[in-house]
Amino acid sequence: MRRKLVAGNWKMNGSLAANAALVAGIKEGLAAQACDVAVCVPAPYLAQVQALVAGSPVVLGAQDMSAHASGAYTGEVSASMLQEFGVQYVILGHSERRAYHGESDAAVAAKTVAALKAGLVPLVCVGETLEQREAGQTNAVVGGQLDVVLAALSVEEAARIVVAYEPVWAIGTGKTATPEMAQEVHAMLRARVGAKSAEVAAKVRILYGGSMKPDNAQQLLAMGDIDGGLIGGAALKAPDFLAIIDAAA
Ligand code: PEP
Repeated sequence: MRRKLVAGNWKMNGSLAANAALVAGIKEGLAAQACDVAVCVPAPYLAQVQALVAGSPVVLGAQDMSAHASGAYTGEVSASMLQEFGVQYVILGHSERRAYHGESDAAVAAKTVAALKAGLVPLVCVGETLEQREAGQTNAVVGGQLDVVLAALSVEEAARIVVAYEPVWAIGTGKTATPEMAQEVHAMLRARVGAKSAEVAAKVRILYGGSMKPDNAQQLLAMGDIDGGLIGGAALKAPDFLAIIDAAA
């Protein structure tokens, strides 16, 4: 049985005051939940949120990192810097980074390797655009994105990643994949991991992301290969985030 993970992706949202209120609301409403919970926050707020979540079941995540260890990479943040602030998870290859920052599959693979070497858990995002889905290319695109990452990893390393299936057309649009559509892709992704190691495939967590909300979370999370959610908009409202956590528990 895979323990579910609900991770909030705050994207470029927040302020010192808003973060404090949001984390307080989450901590207040958290029951003895039976799933893992993370918040992936903008880099400048890592220290603040590290202190806010200390001693609670909520763990800290980041939204990106450099593949490089240190040096002349202006604006970048390394895995070891994230680690110093207690970061456990790092989102890699989010579709917004692929679209707006030209991140290639190879770059995502290199970042994944660097994260694992530093002891972070990469949340590796994959997903197809609407055009790709309508052209019947979903499995090729999404499976291909994951294959490039898997090819860069040993079996032991592959066992330490989390995959997030995030159809691009569902992110921030209010359109969600139906549970059946998502399950089909998740099963395909698990089979891709299975081509590397059946043991890893049975254990790897595959999250769904894309307009997951309190009113659709339960049905999505009930599917056999959906092991949690990567939550954007709904992670910015404590009651919504808590309702999704409840649905996962
Ligand atoms: C995301 O950005 O990872 C995401 C899933 O966003 P939303 O939930 O807002 O669609």
